[in-house]
Amino acid sequence: MNIFQRKRPLVIAGPCSAENEEQVINTAKELSALGIKIFRAGIWKPRTRPNNFEGVGTIGLQWLKAAKKETGIKLTTEVANAKHTEEALKAGIDILWIGARTSVNPFAVQEIADAIKGIDIPVMIKNPINPDIELWIGAVERIQKAGINDIAAIHRGFSSLSNSKYRNDPDWQIPIEFKRRLRNIPMICDPSHIAGRRDLLQQISQKAMDLNFDGMMIETHLDPDNALSDAKQQITPKNLKILLNNLIIRHRYKTNAKFPQYEETLEELRTKIDEYDNLILEIIGKRMNTAKDIGKVKNKNNITILQTNRWDSILKNAILKGEKLGLSEKFINTLYYAIHQESIDNQTIIFRNKEKR
Ligand code: PEP
Ligand code: MN
Repeated sequence: MNIFQRKRPLVIAGPCSAENEEQVINTAKELSALGIKIFRAGIWKPRTRPNNFEGVGTIGLQWLKAAKKETGIKLTTEVANAKHTEEALKAGIDILWIGARTSVNPFAVQEIADAIKGIDIPVMIKNPINPDIELWIGAVERIQKAGINDIAAIHRGFSSLSNSKYRNDPDWQIPIEFKRRLRNIPMICDPSHIAGRRDLLQQISQKAMDLNFDGMMIETHLDPDNALSDAKQQITPKNLKILLNNLIIRHRYKTNAKFPQYEETLEELRTKIDEYDNLILEIIGKRMNTAKDIGKVKNKNNITILQTNRWDSILKNAILKGEKLGLSEKFINTLYYAIHQESIDNQTIIFRNKEKR
């Protein structure tokens, strides 16, 4: 049986980094007792700045082996080049994973693909740090071309310039599109690296389950606050248990002979709607700021707020454009009266402030 084809959700847990033998073995024991079948731990850690903890290196592989011997749990670790790959294979690691800073680089992915050519080893491929679906799919194709059949994708969010609440923006449209294009590759969510903080893990995991992801990789540490890497996002095995118990696992499909996948489709469409709604609000916010700037110019030059000709042409253009987009005149009128009124209100505030001075 394919290692990733298990009952949903497939859960992979373990520390961001292997720190010492005792930590690795004890964490594996606790997770194994919870029924977790796959243990993760980073040995070689890609860190943004040097002089941070960069992983314990090869010695950690022996600790992982010891944890497997004690508990029977399967092992996965991150590999970023041919040398890591060879050492991980030699140590009997069960699943390799390619991190976000590696899947971004076709040279590095190819080097790993060449190192596993002809070897039967499952591989998980994280999305690249930038929101580029072709690069992600390209990495999968390189591993497939090396003859690997057991492949899973991991969605860990994308680096973004906006100051969102996430460490890495989830950009759900991208894994959804990936799933649509590569239907046979299981999709695992990594809420830990999306969130960057533990209080968001539950809601991100729930969202992943509602979007029909196959599983989750969640960073788990015996003493999260004192972890040597990613301290803010790790949770104890006890809290992992609570998180998993709180998850609502919905049916993949409810029997509906005519439209068997309606729930999945519904959730995907709703995600689209949420993203469009966000865009609408952001654009209206920008429009309002521009209206305020116009208010300042009008005020300075002593001209009236309402410019009837201008308003008339805005509305007429919007109705024409709306018609082409299938939006009724009634709707455009309602929308534009509201937007225009808000602009006038904002400009009025600017005028009043001048009167007070
Ligand atoms: C990790 O899983 O610890 C890690 C380094 O993740 P990413 O490649 O997603 O940053
Ligand atoms: Mn980490």
